[in-house]
Amino acid sequence: MRQDRPTHVVVIGAGMVAHKFAETLLAKDDARRVSLTVIGDEPFAPYDRVHLTSRSRRTTGCI
Ligand SMILES: Cc1cc2nc3c(=O)[nH]c(=O)nc-3n(C[C@H](O)[C@H](O)[C@H](O)COP(=O)(O)OP(=O)(O)OC[C@H]3O[C@@H](n4cnc5c(N)ncnc54)[C@H](O)[C@@H]3O)c2cc1C
Repeated sequence: MRQDRPTHVVVIGAGMVAHKFAETLLAKDDARRVSLTVIGDEPFAPYDRVHLTSRSRRTTGCI
């Protein structure tokens, strides 16, 4: 592999884990050696589903 070309990383699925992975990978890529494509099938950006339940409980007043 040629060293002057960026490594192209393709992530299939744009969920929470993909978002965290992309964020971490790009934060560590100071030398800009990575080119990243994230392919998702949802019509909206990744969001935090793990805390969805506790947030909705807070806003609806459920316990
Ligand atoms: C309403 C709700 C409430 C939740 N509450 C909690 C909670 O309180 N606590 C908790 O721990 N967990 C909770 N969860 C579970 C939590 O959401 C999951 O554990 C977490 O989302 C997993 O993240 P992930 O990125 O691995 O997968 P996902 O969030 O499932 O993301 C995977 C993504 O990949 C996409 N995808 C899959 N196949 C393809 C393909 N072939 N091509 C393109 N895209 C593709 C999917 O559409 C999706 O967008 C909840 C889930 C939901 C739905």
